[in-house]
Amino acid sequence: MATNDVALRADDLRFSYGQRRAVDGVSFAVHRGETLGLLGPNGAGKSTTIKMLIGLLTPDDGSIEVLGMDMASRRTDIQGRVGVVFEEKNLYPNLSGRENLAFFARLFGLRDVDLDGLLARVGLADRGRDRVSGYSKGMRQRLTVARALVNRPDVLFLDEPTDGLDPVSARSIRALIREEAGRGAAVVLTTHDMHEADALSDRVAFINDGRILALDAPEQLKLSHGQPTVRVRRRVNGAVEESVVTVDAGGAEQLSALVGAEGLLTVHTEEATLEDVFVHFAGRGLE
Ligand code: ATP
Repeated sequence: MATNDVALRADDLRFSYGQRRAVDGVSFAVHRGETLGLLGPNGAGKSTTIKMLIGLLTPDDGSIEVLGMDMASRRTDIQGRVGVVFEEKNLYPNLSGRENLAFFARLFGLRDVDLDGLLARVGLADRGRDRVSGYSKGMRQRLTVARALVNRPDVLFLDEPTDGLDPVSARSIRALIREEAGRGAAVVLTTHDMHEADALSDRVAFINDGRILALDAPEQLKLSHGQPTVRVRRRVNGAVEESVVTVDAGGAEQLSALVGAEGLLTVHTEEATLEDVFVHFAGRGLE
């Protein structure tokens, strides 16, 4: 991808809370139309990284460039061009969903925002005039996503966007993220859910102890570092016996013996998961 397609660049970011180092030299670039997933367990440093990227925390060291602007000198300009979905949602419960969006649009000095279109996009067309205090968690999160889209952002940041949501809300939010990337927005999202990272990200950064351990397309990570397995089930002396064989040089012989033996019932190949690959790099899982 051409350098001028870079929407966001983080260079050697560091941040400590007192003595506790939360982010320890994080660098990456995200291109227009690309979704980067930061995948890591609780406490890995994902939220702290996002907080620096949106100008909520000032890095102790390192630099951030968004849309060609330096965060240290042009924070306000940057904030007008990005959208943020953060866990701590500051919606106004006594206003309706539509009023919340209108209020946010005014903050940006925006007129002619298609509020009803936005509400429809997040599946709240018929609830937009109800007070937010009566919304479910999933509805609030969908409204938070709609709010982040009010200014048609060039970069969209989402911290654990579907954590703890019902499947319908989660699906709707994932679809919106894809649409936004499709329209050319650069997307950065954090998650500790490997399925989410896999389903949404063009590239995934594994983050642990404040550092990026690997960064690549999910498929590439799994192919290069994961070990596919084959699960063979046979009926032996009336009972079902299951063998799991790793697909490597040694496994091939064992596999052909198993498949050639009597009583074969099923053979399933299982691709490595992002969690398997994460364990390979971090020596620990995502939980
Ligand atoms: P989670 O999903 O649990 O939020 P995370 O990957 O987003 O995890 P961070 O929230 O960035 O991780 O936390 C990184 C480290 O910094 C952790 O050790 C955490 O305990 C610590 N930390 C985070 N916020 C604070 C804070 N306000 N004060 C002190 N330490 C903090």
